[in-house]
Amino acid sequence: MKVLKFGGTSVGSAKNINKVIDILKNYSNDDNIICVVSAVGGITDKLIHVANLALDKDDSYHAAFNSIKKIHRDIITELIPKKNSVVLKSVETKLQELKSLLDGIYLINELSPKTSDKLVSYGELLSSYIITETMTTRGLKVIRKNSQELITTNSNFSKAEVDFSITNKNIRSYFKTADQKITILPGFISKSKRGEITTLGRGGSDYTASIVAAALKVDQLEIWTDVSGMFTTNPKMVKQAFPIKQLSYQEAMELSHFGAKVLYPPTVQPVLDLKIPIHIKNTLKPEDRGTVISKKSNGTRGAAKGISNISNIALLTLQGNGMVGIPGFSKRLFETLAQNKINIILITQASSEHSICLGIDANDTELAKTFVDAEFENEISLKKIDPLIVETGLSIIALVGDNMKSHQGISGKMFSSLGKNNINIRAIAQGASEKNISAVIAEKDVKKALNTLHEQFFEGNIKQLNVFITGLGNVGKRLIDQIKQQQNYLKTNLKINLRVTGLSNSRKMYFDEHGIDLKDWKQKVDSGSKASLSKFLEAAKEMNLRNSVFVDVTANKDVSDEYENYLKSSIAVVACNKIACSSNYENYQNLKSLSLEYNVPFLFETNVGAGLPVIDTLNNLIASGDRITAIHAVLSGSLNYIFNHFDENIQFHDVVKNAQKEGYTEPDPRIDLSGVDVARKILILARESGSKLDLKDIVNESFLTKSNLSSKSADEFYKSLMHDEAHFQSLYESAKSKNCRLKYVAEFDNGKAKVGLREIPMGHPFYDLEGKDNIVMFYTKRYPDQPMIIKGAGAGADVTASGIFADIIRAEND
Ligand code: ADP
Ligand code: ASP
Ligand code: MG
Repeated sequence: MKVLKFGGTSVGSAKNINKVIDILKNYSNDDNIICVVSAVGGITDKLIHVANLALDKDDSYHAAFNSIKKIHRDIITELIPKKNSVVLKSVETKLQELKSLLDGIYLINELSPKTSDKLVSYGELLSSYIITETMTTRGLKVIRKNSQELITTNSNFSKAEVDFSITNKNIRSYFKTADQKITILPGFISKSKRGEITTLGRGGSDYTASIVAAALKVDQLEIWTDVSGMFTTNPKMVKQAFPIKQLSYQEAMELSHFGAKVLYPPTVQPVLDLKIPIHIKNTLKPEDRGTVISKKSNGTRGAAKGISNISNIALLTLQGNGMVGIPGFSKRLFETLAQNKINIILITQASSEHSICLGIDANDTELAKTFVDAEFENEISLKKIDPLIVETGLSIIALVGDNMKSHQGISGKMFSSLGKNNINIRAIAQGASEKNISAVIAEKDVKKALNTLHEQFFEGNIKQLNVFITGLGNVGKRLIDQIKQQQNYLKTNLKINLRVTGLSNSRKMYFDEHGIDLKDWKQKVDSGSKASLSKFLEAAKEMNLRNSVFVDVTANKDVSDEYENYLKSSIAVVACNKIACSSNYENYQNLKSLSLEYNVPFLFETNVGAGLPVIDTLNNLIASGDRITAIHAVLSGSLNYIFNHFDENIQFHDVVKNAQKEGYTEPDPRIDLSGVDVARKILILARESGSKLDLKDIVNESFLTKSNLSSKSADEFYKSLMHDEAHFQSLYESAKSKNCRLKYVAEFDNGKAKVGLREIPMGHPFYDLEGKDNIVMFYTKRYPDQPMIIKGAGAGADVTASGIFADIIRAEND
């Protein structure tokens, strides 16, 4: 004999009921079947809702009732298209009773738990009747038995406790004589010893099935639902969750107790001692394997088996100096809650005994506060303890697995990955059995926490990285192209799932928390909402995705002003924009400190030398204990290009024009030629080497003339270059006469920095620097004479984009 239970979705439509009937037909060929059914999906909620409308004297309860009626009528006419009048009439009569009950509630303005149980019992009564009649009309040998006549409880309405000795006797004696192949039982509903209608608690049809299975000592209990088993975590919250093949009873109990709704928590208890396996199956995909819950845990996949969560939690804290060392406080607290039927979900107590912390259902908060404060009234008035502290808006997440106790470092891994993602933990509890580690966190962080933990414990170390890019010019576009091209490679080879979740230019912005498909990102951005820096930040925060990175590919100060807010939200910042790091020292330092404080990277490799690993190398030298004594560098691709092309055969003015045409200078060439850009770069390197410098401390020995420097526009500047050609020719001649070449050099020596044009002799590493290349020489304690040299293309959209890309990947590793 087998017991099968079909949940709300499984009997939620005519189409699904047909699937249920197919499954039953298959089974009943070789066995007797007891089939427990829930109410039609969503009906229990609707019944509670309509009752509350009636209670509130809201006339829309008539319409709500009619919609319940229609759902049932529609299912009947679809399942039994012909000769359905008897069934429809009988359902009509039942619904009329229900309507009278609702009218009564409306009139007397009262809805007791007892009436509520009576009301919701119609859900299961109707569904079981409809299914039985449908099967009968199709020629199947089936009988319905009202489980209220079998399951006897106390009068604890809405969650009654079963009297097993009477119940087991009832079930056994009924089934001893029943010789039907298929018996249909309504789940969830029962009767008290006094004959009142009771229910077993929301989700209780699972329990009905388990009670019957245990009473009859059947071979197997099957719970048929709308998912293919018990998943590693709630599949509605975590896309990557997958069904667990095998679980022990204890693991299943922990997971369901901590919120895995797929199994009502008390369900395991009756079958546990009898070792009857529970098989969870999917009605919509019966071929899927599902989950088997039995004695063995069979933990092949690591120690943690699943993660679950309970929402709507309140945390109660009882604290005070008067509690220390005096026994009895906890006992009184627990007793007060128990007497008032307030269920405690989680307990933690600091070893100082100064406080005790409890997690309860938030709906019980008011009750708890009233009764606990009354219980401790005396101690509170004597200031021995504080009034009960209540916090709401919380949720519990729990990591579960039988074998966790024999694995070290699981809780460390759990809490560090939560911490890294800025998920604040309010309380922690670890069961003495070590089958469960639970944490209380803010409700708003639940989705992120579940995804973070799932990634950490179940996804073979594939790490998701969520990128928000602002600035979609030349470099931004190349960056997106590179990401698009590399996404698969990163997943397979580096186990990084890199997703672009937000894009913005100065006009529009676009988001997708599931990752933007980069095929047509341009159209998507064009179709997006109006760009706004603050809304971009808000959206990134709102999505609350783990491992988020903000990427600034603009040259805009307003964007760099936002870094602080990103870091404070535990969102890493990758900046191509130089403004933040070359702004005043306090600002730079503040961002560095925030990065440390919030444990999120702030990276800006492309501020110096585009894609060349200049800052990374510098940081590695310092981290490994080296000390920078000097940095000599050519850091301007544009100036290098200009001086490499300038000689006696060409006017300086023309070389600059050409450089601009080729795209090697800023639109306004004064920014490059004045040396400010190079000064900013050496400032950043000096700061990263540990010097507290500001831009004003960098000596700028300009090679331009006074009239060049005082020109008011780019046009005027070009004219003055033409006018002062002799000056530039004399610079060139002077170098040439000494067999030197002109290079624009940045120098940092003994804590001081300067930039300026230098005559570089043959043989010097700068002498042969070509095109728009950059070169950086680090003199350090370990490299005192022969410097460490980094050299290569120091400008261009592609190399800059690849430098930003490297920072994004680095943000993941940090
Ligand atoms: P039924 O109506 O069949 O009793 P429930 O709605 O009570 O179904 O339970 C199934 C639902 O439980 C799933 O649709 C899923 O949303 C939710 N759920 C929560 N946690 C888990 C989990 N760990 N594994 C599977 N389902 C879960
Ligand atoms: N119909 C009841 C509920 O929705 C019982 C169940 O479905 O298990 O809670
Ligand atoms: Mg259920």
